[in-house]
Amino acid sequence: MSLLSVEQARERILSHFQPLTTEKIILADCINRVLAMDIVAADDLPPFNNSAMDGFALRAADSSNTAPASPLTLNVVADIPAGSTPTISLVPGQAARIMTGAQVPEGVDSVIPVEDTDFNDRSAGTAPPKTVTITRQVQVNENVRPRGMDVHIGDVILKSGVRLNAQSIGILAMLGFAEVEVYKQPRVALLSSGDELLEIGVPLMPGKIRDSNSSMLAALIQSANAEVLPLGIAKDTRASVTELLEKAVAKNVDVILTSAGVSVGAYDYVKEVVEANGSLNFWRVNMRPGKPLAFGEYKDIPFIGLPGNPVSAFVGFEVFVRSTLGRLGGLSDGSRPTVRVRCEEEILSDGRESYLRAVIHENNGEYSARLTGHQGSGNLLSLVQANALLIIPAGVKCVPAGQEVIAWRL
Ligand code: AMP
Ligand code: MG
Repeated sequence: MSLLSVEQARERILSHFQPLTTEKIILADCINRVLAMDIVAADDLPPFNNSAMDGFALRAADSSNTAPASPLTLNVVADIPAGSTPTISLVPGQAARIMTGAQVPEGVDSVIPVEDTDFNDRSAGTAPPKTVTITRQVQVNENVRPRGMDVHIGDVILKSGVRLNAQSIGILAMLGFAEVEVYKQPRVALLSSGDELLEIGVPLMPGKIRDSNSSMLAALIQSANAEVLPLGIAKDTRASVTELLEKAVAKNVDVILTSAGVSVGAYDYVKEVVEANGSLNFWRVNMRPGKPLAFGEYKDIPFIGLPGNPVSAFVGFEVFVRSTLGRLGGLSDGSRPTVRVRCEEEILSDGRESYLRAVIHENNGEYSARLTGHQGSGNLLSLVQANALLIIPAGVKCVPAGQEVIAWRL
């Protein structure tokens, strides 16, 4: 077993995965899905010159000498609610009452808000006044949102490979995309293994613990926008492991993800069953926490075997599986956002690339971090109390207090 850096192991895994095929889905189902097309605007946004305020549309030039001592009174010749298409055009001395979002008529280059006029009645249903008086100059384009101000026809608004958030869905709706081409979501078969594991909801029994990895990893898979097919707990027997892996094959999943059962223990049958039906590599990755990482295939389905200890399973998922699911799901950049944080205390490491549980605080735009108690790989509570993982690079044995390191926010 050769010693791999985290980066080498990640690259080796990623090199086995290509984006899945794509599908067309309705916009309402698009949250968090990854775009598989470039979005090109077929309309200008806004699509017509419109008012940014409830007020009066006028010709700015009419107000060039207007001041409190020389007020300007204009004849109100039209009323333009939002959604209407004004046919009038204003001549000097005229104004039109106009609502926010309404199309501004020909000859109009500005809107004065109603609160800057002598017409104060703004209750619903009020008719426009015959005249309106103002006491200040208005600027050309004041409160007019011109056609194409935000988006021009032909602009590329979103690129293939981005994850759609609520804002992107909003602009897709503005641009008339009722359906969007997206990448299919990876389908992941998930199983735990070990005779000590109980289903959650069952009282503890001597020598047994509850299967927490199934729940935690299912949540992580979902947070990576993949679909989970939970296969449950394999007993430490050849038959039980085979039965569950065959279920994964029958469901035609994209990845099989397991936890535990792949170390060198006498009851670690996952390793043996996968090897007998495909191939399995063990990599000693220069990281902490993390035992050897198992990667291979079972009947041509990619197989990733994470360690059994809950914190190791979590970190292994974040380091190796999230980016894999991102690649399968078409994401062009699946890397996690990082922040630089200052260590509040000295941190000792053992020279492996370490992912340490920490709390980070912000003060005046700077982040500082301290560890959340003991870092044993079975201690899930210290991960629950953390809001970040500090990444101590390989080769570093001591980070002095006050030094900066990179962190992933959880
Ligand atoms: P193993 O890799 O099978 O040697 O397991 C390593 C450690 O992880 C042992 O302490 C197991 O009891 C624990 N473990 C394995 N699977 C799970 C699981 N699904 N949930 C919680 N702990 C587990
Ligand atoms: Mg075990």
